[in-house]
Amino acid sequence: MRTPLIAGNWKLNKTISEANKLATQLVTGLTGVSDREVVIAPIFTALSSVADIVKNSPIQLAGQNCYPEESGAFTGEISPLFLRDAGCQYVIIGHSERRQLLAETDAFIQQKIVKSLAGGLKPILCIGETLEQRENNQMFDVLTQQIKGALKNLTAERIATLVVAYEPVWAIGTGKTASNEQAQEAHAFIRKLLAELFTPDIAETTRILYGGSVKPGNVDELMAEKDIDGALVGGASLNAEDFIRIVRFN
Ligand code: PEP
Repeated sequence: MRTPLIAGNWKLNKTISEANKLATQLVTGLTGVSDREVVIAPIFTALSSVADIVKNSPIQLAGQNCYPEESGAFTGEISPLFLRDAGCQYVIIGHSERRQLLAETDAFIQQKIVKSLAGGLKPILCIGETLEQRENNQMFDVLTQQIKGALKNLTAERIATLVVAYEPVWAIGTGKTASNEQAQEAHAFIRKLLAELFTPDIAETTRILYGGSVKPGNVDELMAEKDIDGALVGGASLNAEDFIRIVRFN
């Protein structure tokens, strides 16, 4: 019922020529993929050339962030309008690196979600607890607060295209993956929360991705869990062979 989605977050990596090369390798390696969605998020400066390369392939594009205004005096920012113009269908919002390094709040993230949806982009909303929060048994409270904050004042109809990415902060870029049981527990909780806050239908159809050191060696078992609908992949998405294997999970 939920089409699996594998998304690669390239972060601040790959020059334009390197991005083009990686995109070309992915197009070749992912020929024929049709039962799952594939999304890559290159740096902004490479979006338009990568868009040309992935045209007519199963690969879709995401921005790594956006500002909640369409255009105007917002030096250094990028908006849903311009991401669409560059060829994006998706946008990553609320990544833990931005929450931590740039002090993004749930309220600011909510504005971005609203504007992304209004601008025709599908948001990939990242949520997740730190190690300290997990160890203090605050995980469920943190996830609840992040979901409630980011989706405040939104209706079930409005969030029909939303994707949630559960990314425990302690598993991002650390090589430490959540166990299948830990990931499934968090995903089931998020799904239940969506049912309570919106509708059972939304909970059933919203894709919840796992992110945090996903690799070719652990993707199959993660994807076997009932509530894990895909992966948001950082480090391993920078290598064509690894990312292709992850997309082709069993
Ligand atoms: C991420 O940054 O979203 C991520 C999951 O990174 P990594 O796969 O490197 O842990």
